[in-house]
Amino acid sequence: MTQARVVIIGGGIAGCSVAYHLVKLGWRDVVLLERKQLTSGTTWHAAGLIGRLRGSRTMAGLVRYSAELYARLEAETGVSTNWKQVGSLGVARRAARMTQFRRSVALGRYAGIEAHIVDRDEIRRHWPLCRVDDLEGGIWIPHDGRVIPADTTQALAAGARAGGARIVEETAVHEVLTRDGAVAGVRTSHGEIACDVVVNCAGMWARELGALNGITVPVFPVEHFYAVTRPIAGVSPDLPVLRDYDGHIYVREEVGGLLFKAWFGDEATERWGAFYVWESIAASEQELPSLPVKLVRDEVPYQGPVGGIYYGLKAAGSEFSFVTSCDVAFLSPPLILHLISRISNYDVVVPYWQERFQPLHAVYRRSVLPLLRVQLERGELRPVYLFDKVRTCTIGEDAIRRFDPEGLSFFNMNTPADYEEAVKRWQALNGWNAAGNDSVQCTVELFGVARLLAQTKEVALSLPEGATLARVYSALAEKLPVLANRVIAPDGSSLLSGYACNVNGLEFVRVPTAKVNSGDRIFIISADAGG
Ligand SMILES: Cc1cc2nc3c(=O)[nH]c(=O)nc-3n(C[C@H](O)[C@H](O)[C@H](O)COP(=O)(O)OP(=O)(O)OC[C@H]3O[C@@H](n4cnc5c(N)ncnc54)[C@H](O)[C@@H]3O)c2cc1C
Repeated sequence: MTQARVVIIGGGIAGCSVAYHLVKLGWRDVVLLERKQLTSGTTWHAAGLIGRLRGSRTMAGLVRYSAELYARLEAETGVSTNWKQVGSLGVARRAARMTQFRRSVALGRYAGIEAHIVDRDEIRRHWPLCRVDDLEGGIWIPHDGRVIPADTTQALAAGARAGGARIVEETAVHEVLTRDGAVAGVRTSHGEIACDVVVNCAGMWARELGALNGITVPVFPVEHFYAVTRPIAGVSPDLPVLRDYDGHIYVREEVGGLLFKAWFGDEATERWGAFYVWESIAASEQELPSLPVKLVRDEVPYQGPVGGIYYGLKAAGSEFSFVTSCDVAFLSPPLILHLISRISNYDVVVPYWQERFQPLHAVYRRSVLPLLRVQLERGELRPVYLFDKVRTCTIGEDAIRRFDPEGLSFFNMNTPADYEEAVKRWQALNGWNAAGNDSVQCTVELFGVARLLAQTKEVALSLPEGATLARVYSALAEKLPVLANRVIAPDGSSLLSGYACNVNGLEFVRVPTAKVNSGDRIFIISADAGG
């Protein structure tokens, strides 16, 4: 096969669903490529819970559509999804959770989803094995259900094949080929396929794949645990799904026993926040700042960068880590993602900028720890000694410039003069006027939660010539610190997800680098509020 209209990468539930829906929409020449077998990714592990009550009407509508589709796919394709409408029960350990449940019931009424508040007796009636004495109450959603995700994927694949899609397993996509900035095809483990459209459905590998073409796919895996018990008396396949939100756990029946799954709450958020800064290293007498990251001290201080890399990698515990020093002024997430995307076949991925390796802006595989340890023991305190001994991928200047044209990622603040220079560059990048003439007068109007938090409707701002939206957000966070971390990102340069910015009631502006003009009215609203 050398030609297709669309190539879908990844044979999980997302890829098979895309193939199924494209053929339903009349697309021809649809090809799906899976590097192993269908469902061999995350889909295989999923519990298959179909919960209809979601945070917005759009999401609720999507889930309703999915549930209806899964219920009828067997009749259409001959392959069962194992859809079972067992209902779901959410339990609350806290009064605040009950308030949330009451709001969910109200949202359900608005979105056409049946949901009821239930007391302890009703919880016991739905879930006889549940201890209820420490519960405030719960929510019962009778039309929720569950499927077996691997079966559902096979059913979607069968429907896609019946509509003419070609599904090819054991075929990995190594590269998306482009011509004049547009998709031209894919290079696979079995040759090239020319195509007009590529759909990246590679699940948690989608980010690495996107990064090969300089595209940021904001998908990050977080840890998720599960345990399955032996059969338990009283557990039947009709048992509703139980969700204990305060305990971060859900439970459902699995071959006569119980399947428990736990997810992280704040810890996961913390990891996201700390994604690029896994660890900070400091000598024993250094005072450590209070940061939302895990801080680790060197076991032996003053071992230079090799010590920092060694103790950092050791504490991070992950298979590979991006390592950077604490005195960098600017980081480029696209460049970091590019470095990470190259690690699969290497032990180290290191930029080479202006005739120097940049070992403190590099990705290291954990397997280099023993070699670093030997280096420390021998007093070889330069990281470059490692590069000859392991599989090292050097990223040259041309590749670096694609993501960071000036190489600002390697600008370290070693002296007060460096710091001054970094501040100047930062102000220039963010549209600040060094002379301090605040000639742009604009008004920010707050809506929804932002207004409730700030307890004010409107704020007037005076900003320097050339100010950008990023400058508006940081000025707003300065004036109204209560908005920081709740509405405005911790670094003050953007809105947090869930909020949107509209300028003059005319257009929603997403890029924080957009210029602001005198007289502009900037509205900060909940992103869920729609147009
Ligand atoms: C323990 C657990 C429980 C979960 N429970 C639920 C739940 O109850 N309800 C729910 O809705 N969700 C649940 N999820 C989430 C759900 O599993 C995922 O959101 C979903 O399966 C993702 O599907 P996907 O198709 O995007 O990714 P995947 O299933 O991971 O599929 C991606 C596929 O792409 C392939 N691939 C990757 N790179 C390439 C390449 N270069 N070339 C070709 N192929 C490639 C992979 O081999 C893989 O098969 C759970 C997840 C886990 C881990």
